[in-house]
Amino acid sequence: MSRRRPIIAIDGPVGAGKSVAARALARALGFSYLNTGAMYRAVAIAAREAGVSPEDADVEARLAPVLAAIKIKFDGESIFLNRRDVTAIVSEPEVGELASRFSAIASVRARMRELQRAAGADGGVVMEGRDIGTAIFPDAEFKFFLVADVKTRARRRFEELKKKGASIAEHEVFEQLIERDRRDSGRELAPLKRADDATEIDSTKLSIDAVVAAMKAKINARINAAKDLKRA
Ligand code: C5P
Repeated sequence: MSRRRPIIAIDGPVGAGKSVAARALARALGFSYLNTGAMYRAVAIAAREAGVSPEDADVEARLAPVLAAIKIKFDGESIFLNRRDVTAIVSEPEVGELASRFSAIASVRARMRELQRAAGADGGVVMEGRDIGTAIFPDAEFKFFLVADVKTRARRRFEELKKKGASIAEHEVFEQLIERDRRDSGRELAPLKRADDATEIDSTKLSIDAVVAAMKAKINARINAAKDLKRA
């Protein structure tokens, strides 16, 4: 492990609490934070604006220039796509749906893998998504897989969207979430699944503080065990 500071991978389905926990953990450790779901959402926006649909017969060819030119930048809670602030659009439910459909396409995943690996190359990062511990950084020093029961996840997502002013019914959020889970877990390329060596945390009954505390405890236990081993 000659790598500089560690990489912390946090994967899991919609509404498991990944973003809030990952952001808080990164802040506590002084690490950077990367939301890879937002990157897939940015791709969906860029593709939609270029008139490309995931169902197009020649989708890979049509996506090639979009992916080649894509620039995604984060600045605090804001996200910029090709230098334009798309923060407000990124969290729209339709964009999440579209992102899920584009994310099953090989060239999209390859381009995201390239950008995400470059972003994590120096370590010191908390990266959240669906395939960070399995495909992007399979050798990440720490891996967590966050889960929560489906009703809790739908409720969280609904509250989050309501806060952002979206007009959507709770049952619609529930149905979309089931569909997105099904698609993300069932796709051929880098499906959503727990890495064998990931620690699973069920956040159904936990506060964010408790989730972050459980992650920190795991990280500290490993670091202390490694120190003891060195001393022995
Ligand atoms: O995390 P978020 O819900 O914003 O992600 C949007 C979509 O992007 C997911 O439903 C999933 O299809 C895709 N995604 C992915 N791999 C990741 C992160 C997100 O396929 N690492």
